[in-house]
Amino acid sequence: MKGFAMLGIGKTGWIEKERPLCGPLDAIVRPLAISPCTSDIHTVWEGAIGERHNMILGHEAVGEVVEIGSLVKDIKVGDKVIVPAITPDWGSLEAQAGYSMHSGGMLAGWKFSNFKDGVFGEYFHVNEADANLAVLPEGIDIADAVMLSDMVPTGFHGVELADVQFGDSVCVIGIGPVGLMAVAGAALRGASDLYAVGSRPNCIEIAKEYGATDIINYREGDIVEQIMSKTHGKGVDKVIVAGGDVDTMAQAISIVKPGGIIGNVNYLGSGEYVKIPRVEWGCGMGHKTISGGLMPGGRLRMEKLAKLLQTNRLDTSKLITHRFYGFDKIEDALMLMKDKPKDLIKPVVIL
Ligand code: NDP
Ligand code: ZN
Repeated sequence: MKGFAMLGIGKTGWIEKERPLCGPLDAIVRPLAISPCTSDIHTVWEGAIGERHNMILGHEAVGEVVEIGSLVKDIKVGDKVIVPAITPDWGSLEAQAGYSMHSGGMLAGWKFSNFKDGVFGEYFHVNEADANLAVLPEGIDIADAVMLSDMVPTGFHGVELADVQFGDSVCVIGIGPVGLMAVAGAALRGASDLYAVGSRPNCIEIAKEYGATDIINYREGDIVEQIMSKTHGKGVDKVIVAGGDVDTMAQAISIVKPGGIIGNVNYLGSGEYVKIPRVEWGCGMGHKTISGGLMPGGRLRMEKLAKLLQTNRLDTSKLITHRFYGFDKIEDALMLMKDKPKDLIKPVVIL
């Protein structure tokens, strides 16, 4: 079969591979719609997780099940399924401890385009099909549904990590597709003042539509000064980090109130250390919690998030700015993600 792969750090190309084999609990899926992710860019062009050779990329897909293992009970051949980016081993001790995303080791629940071939192939393998795949409900557009693989659960996980409560003032740093979903999730969770940090005009417009009350343009001045000025020097209750670099955490610590929580879902692709500013962190005593995490994955979460689309509580179509048609267009979509033109939020390829 054919797949679009990372050949090595900084190199991509089409390769031929054997179709993956299906274990007793697993499924083989044919993609129907895929989307490239900023994480694919960190992986290939920043070497964020180290060297990988001839690994098929991609971890966001809706697909059709073409084969199931002998022990699979619920998922059937022919089902159209939402494929989460994170596909844990649910029997692992880490999953039993509540950290499915780290099943088998730190970040090891993230398998596609990390430890095994991803979804940019003609077929891909999904472990524990019954626990990891959700059947796509009738009436949901497949392009909208691809946003459920990673953008919605990751943005929403930022909201969970920051433990946003009714009436909290919240700042979302970064309003690419992940941050936009953090804005939408924080609004659903009852945030009051909702500050969104970004600069791309279309992201700013959409952030407002998802519930941002104030926009902070980080290119036009220091984030800390702008937030402190808007909050009369008090800062915000919660911060969600969905963009920026290793220096962004220092800003997040500076703007969160004592007792506040920072939920980070940003994938730090480069830099050795994340700095914590001593004084702003209350000299170590400020009760400012930093919580950074990978989204948990799982069928139940996917089914529940799909219900938000079904009940019109969430509209993911606003994220999709570019549509491609045909398997061969995967390369163009990934390169678009790499180049990040100003009008891009998310590209989707319909296969
Ligand atoms: P984008 O690159 O589309 O968006 C990044 C956002 O951060 C943009 O709004 C950008 O602003 C803003 N930004 C960039 N630099 C700064 C800065 N110095 N200070 C403040 N804001 C800044 O990324 P995505 O939304 O696609 O993804 C966000 C992150 O989440 C990525 O690192 C991605 O890899 C990661 N991720 C993590 C996952 C997880 O499970 N934890 C899963 C999926 C993704 P501008 O408007 O100027 O572009
Ligand atoms: Zn992703």
